Amino acid sequence: MRAKTRTALFVGLVLLILGGAALLGCRLGWLPAANAQDDTTQSSMILMDTVVDVRVDGPNSAALVERVFARMAELEALFSRFIPESEVSAINRGAGDWVQASPLTLDLIELGIEMGRLTDGAFDITIGAVLDLWGFGSDYRQVPDEEELRAALATVDYTKVEVDRKAGAVRIPEGSVLDLGGIAKGFIVSQGIAILRTARMDRALINAGGDISVVGRRPDGRPWRVGVQDPDQANQIRYILPLDDQSVVTSGDYQRYFTVDGVRYHHIIDPSTGYPARGLRSVTIVGADPAVCDAISTAVFVRGWEEGRALVERLPGVEAIVISDTDAWISPGLAQAVTTP
Ligand code: ADP
Ligand code: MG
Repeated sequence: MRAKTRTALFVGLVLLILGGAALLGCRLGWLPAANAQDDTTQSSMILMDTVVDVRVDGPNSAALVERVFARMAELEALFSRFIPESEVSAINRGAGDWVQASPLTLDLIELGIEMGRLTDGAFDITIGAVLDLWGFGSDYRQVPDEEELRAALATVDYTKVEVDRKAGAVRIPEGSVLDLGGIAKGFIVSQGIAILRTARMDRALINAGGDISVVGRRPDGRPWRVGVQDPDQANQIRYILPLDDQSVVTSGDYQRYFTVDGVRYHHIIDPSTGYPARGLRSVTIVGADPAVCDAISTAVFVRGWEEGRALVERLPGVEAIVISDTDAWISPGLAQAVTTP
């Protein structure tokens, strides 16, 4: 979640507020806004190493936005393994023993385990030791030694994470490192959205650096519009998809990476090899729950062109745009809705 380096704050998706020629400009015009009109409040804050925008339309919008940010900051402080006081850090320090954790941390870990099951281990929340060897999460990045990589890979197995709801505790195997970076952002967005839905807001959105979830429709009654970035050109939008009371999340290889001898090494690791997953450039997932979308986008990226698309097709309520170097695939459920700029 909170890496020390800031390679890219913007990831994959751009929320489009206006239409037509103003597409790109509006991303910039929209960002710094922190205006509170009668019943619309829109504000940005850096959380989880990314710019998080919250917009709420409705009564008491300013107070609600504040509550959402406070909640999200609170959750980041629980879930980040780069914050020493976090619960996830405590679980990692206590690997091998049961460690107390709050109900929401247990929820997130249980969801992470479920996503592991759903994706046959392409998504694995115990990938931390491997990420550490590559240096993702620190300033120093390197291609790891084979032997060390094998040893780290032996600590990766989400099926060995135990959650005891009654005792309110978690146990991971000794030597394993929990990393919730592939799901926590989406989960935190889902918790923010839950506050807004409970407050019965008709219209709201949260954009956590491209993990986007919306309530209702735009002020003009049309769906929100989200631009899917071209993996090679940060300022180019490749597809536009309408979003109506849904969430969208993108995983890409152009977000956090380093290059050695012309080879790009990025932060999405294939748990079956310990190496960055090859084959795809970006995966955009549309669905109801941003936490699920977050995990699935990472998993489809890991699975690659053939198996990744098959995974999307077998998951109900999940649609995708999958982009490789040479090809792009839009899942059947989205094909009608997606346009190009
Ligand atoms: P981002 O966090 O940049 O939006 P992703 O949602 O794809 O991108 O998550 C990538 C993060 O997920 C990595 O930084 C790492 O913390 C974690 N991760 C990497 N590979 C895996 C994996 N195979 N399973 C679960 N989490 C992973
Ligand atoms: Mg993800």
